[in-house]
Amino acid sequence: MLEALKREVCEQNLELPQAGLVVGSGGNVSGRDPDTGHIVIKPSGLKFAKLTPASMVVVDIDGRIVEGDLKPSVDTGVHLVIYRARPDVFGIAHTHSPYATSFAARGEPIPAVLTPITHILGRDVPCSRYATPGEQDTGQAVVDAAAGGHAALVKAHGVFTMGKSATEAASIAMYLEEAAKTTHLAMLRGPVESLPQEEIDRCYNWFRRNYGQSGAKKIET
Ligand SMILES: [Zn+2]
Repeated sequence: MLEALKREVCEQNLELPQAGLVVGSGGNVSGRDPDTGHIVIKPSGLKFAKLTPASMVVVDIDGRIVEGDLKPSVDTGVHLVIYRARPDVFGIAHTHSPYATSFAARGEPIPAVLTPITHILGRDVPCSRYATPGEQDTGQAVVDAAAGGHAALVKAHGVFTMGKSATEAASIAMYLEEAAKTTHLAMLRGPVESLPQEEIDRCYNWFRRNYGQSGAKKIET
């Protein structure tokens, strides 16, 4: 069941090491099927190179295994808390990508200083309070810090991104890490200035209208 979603979730998990966002078996992507509400997630402890669509695990919203021979990711409970709280979310990515996580290590948000990421997020990247890893507490910390948005850092842990698909969540994780790296480098040379919220709102709305093929079509007509 859910073969297309398993392929997508597998592919997006494989994007994480290719983009340098994860090492070993750390980090994970999941996707939610809009029809059944089931979640497809990476298996626990399997190195990225070994992942196949067939090794993905299907769980229901309460974490019961619906299909799959392996144990689901240790972070499954965190993903489920987010999915339960956010009916708009159909994909989640979690990484410990180094530049973004260096902000999380300091308990600091990534300030909204670069349009490529504020276009996508519509705000800075907030950082949560400290939360116990792999449990309900981390999911709740993400939900609270994200406040309906697409991303949050968890203090002393890493990055969670949320999208309307597994592909969008993984893509946000990549752009977020690039923005974190560039912002970090800029901060080494002095203070950085956040963009005004009204300009962020303008860019965010423009991006939503125009990005991607549906947006490009709109421009042509
Ligand atoms: Zn983690």
